[in-house]
Amino acid sequence: MAHFEDLSPCAYFPGGDDRLVAVGWLEREHPFPRGEVDADFFAALVRLCVEPWQPVVFAGRHACSLCRFSGGPGALSYDSLTVSLGSANVFVPDGARVFVAPTTVLHYLDAHGYTPPREFQEAVLRCPPMRSMPYLRALKESGLSFRR
Ligand SMILES: [Zn+2]
Repeated sequence: MAHFEDLSPCAYFPGGDDRLVAVGWLEREHPFPRGEVDADFFAALVRLCVEPWQPVVFAGRHACSLCRFSGGPGALSYDSLTVSLGSANVFVPDGARVFVAPTTVLHYLDAHGYTPPREFQEAVLRCPPMRSMPYLRALKESGLSFRR
């Protein structure tokens, strides 16, 4: 799978533009920041990842390379919600940019001690409900486009 440093341009999406900012694209051989994370932030990110808006559909699964043998779990349950991990990405608008993380980021937070950048955490807490009109408007206002 692809690795991107946090807050670097995310070149994963064909036709995507440079407003896309990577968060949580971890791989085993690259060090990543660890520390405490608020439960409020985690719960908010879980809600966004239940049925995330996708610009394009990808086949295949983003396995966890930090898990030594199993590739990590295929789903995560929290707060009576269940999220399938690694088959989709979550887009979080933040003004003129859009953070994008694989849904596997929930597993990195839960099991591997990962701490994402503060600005991503703030954007998640501010983010309107997934697929709501305010969410889609915020995406549109970022100017993000995917050339086909
Ligand atoms: Zn893992």
